[in-house]
Amino acid sequence: MISFEEALEIALNNAQVSGEEEVSWESASGRVLSRDVFSDISMPPFDKSAVDGFACRMRDAGCGMELKVIETIPAGSVPQKQVQAGECSRIMTGGMLPTGADSVIMVEDTETSSADTIKFIKKKSAANICIKAEDVKAGEKVLDKGTLIGAAHLAVLASVGNTRIWVSRQPHVAVISTGNELVEPEDKPSGARIRNSNAWQLVAQARQVPVKCTYYGIADDTPEDLQDKMAMALYKTDIVILTGGVSMGDFDYVPAAMESLGAQILFKSIAIQPGRPTVFARYNNQFIFGLPGNPVSSFVLFELLVKPFILKLMGCEQQPLILKLPMGADFTRRKSARKSVIPVMIRDGLVFPVEYHSSAHINAYTKANGMLIMEIGTTGIRKGETADVRPI
Ligand code: AMP
Ligand code: MG
Repeated sequence: MISFEEALEIALNNAQVSGEEEVSWESASGRVLSRDVFSDISMPPFDKSAVDGFACRMRDAGCGMELKVIETIPAGSVPQKQVQAGECSRIMTGGMLPTGADSVIMVEDTETSSADTIKFIKKKSAANICIKAEDVKAGEKVLDKGTLIGAAHLAVLASVGNTRIWVSRQPHVAVISTGNELVEPEDKPSGARIRNSNAWQLVAQARQVPVKCTYYGIADDTPEDLQDKMAMALYKTDIVILTGGVSMGDFDYVPAAMESLGAQILFKSIAIQPGRPTVFARYNNQFIFGLPGNPVSSFVLFELLVKPFILKLMGCEQQPLILKLPMGADFTRRKSARKSVIPVMIRDGLVFPVEYHSSAHINAYTKANGMLIMEIGTTGIRKGETADVRPI
């Protein structure tokens, strides 16, 4: 058995980017930049007004001062007139600041005194200007290689004219459920059978990373069927995720099937609860995860281990977000030989464990918005003490 940190390190050390491709705007969200991005212009490209108002000299913006309005500057138009003492230009948000002006007084802080004059009615005005290049200088790097592209990143790519988006190759993931007891959700289980819930959970988790994910069905608990289904998935995909069949039961053939296929097992037991019998294997440049069959184990190990692995395979090394928050109630556990992960609800800045029976109890995670992480050797945490929580 190795620590969770060792297991994660082994997995991440095996994850290397395998190429890049150019994608369109429509499909760039959720991809990882494979090249740094630089700006071809300064942002803003000129001094501009941050408000709707009147561009003037700051020293003219004294309470009760009357200013003559000499032109109107909409956003997108170049000012035609220079602002002199006692003058101002009506300007819209985003409009180019006229020469001579060094501030913009807000419409709300003025009164119209006659057809072409306004009066400043506040004591003091802020400058209300966005200075040329204050956000980005022309030629500056705006996004780093390895960045996972979200909405704000797309806005930056658009504003710097990056119309060719180079991203790392996206791996294709396969999900296989294992177990003779499983029936698909549309069937009603009878006798000792249960519904296959893990497959849909894992497919959703993989698509949320996001990566392409294909479901390959349920494998019987036989070495032959496991090997066949794994081989079929490896033929078309880069990463195969199996659930079930990895513990000590008489019919847990997944690790043996991986080996007879020719895959090299890199670890098969992690000091974590739930999720101890998690298996990770390498097959040339493809990878196989064998996650335990209990739904919570497979959910947690995907989040903690498989997700960072997939992201690293795309060149993105994200540190998990760990919140340090006070407990809202006591929590104790009997054993402390493994790192443990407990479903919790963060409410009003406090951490509350939710009702949780065991690793089969996936319902608990529908009522949780975080995972409390308890390190090896810790048996309890009291109300008010600081806990490490990963939001989910
Ligand atoms: P295993 O890891 O195969 O020993 O399975 C552990 C427990 O998880 C057993 O109670 C299984 O019935 C259950 N289980 C295995 N696979 C699934 C699945 N795909 N969906 C829901 N429960 C499962
Ligand atoms: Mg099983």
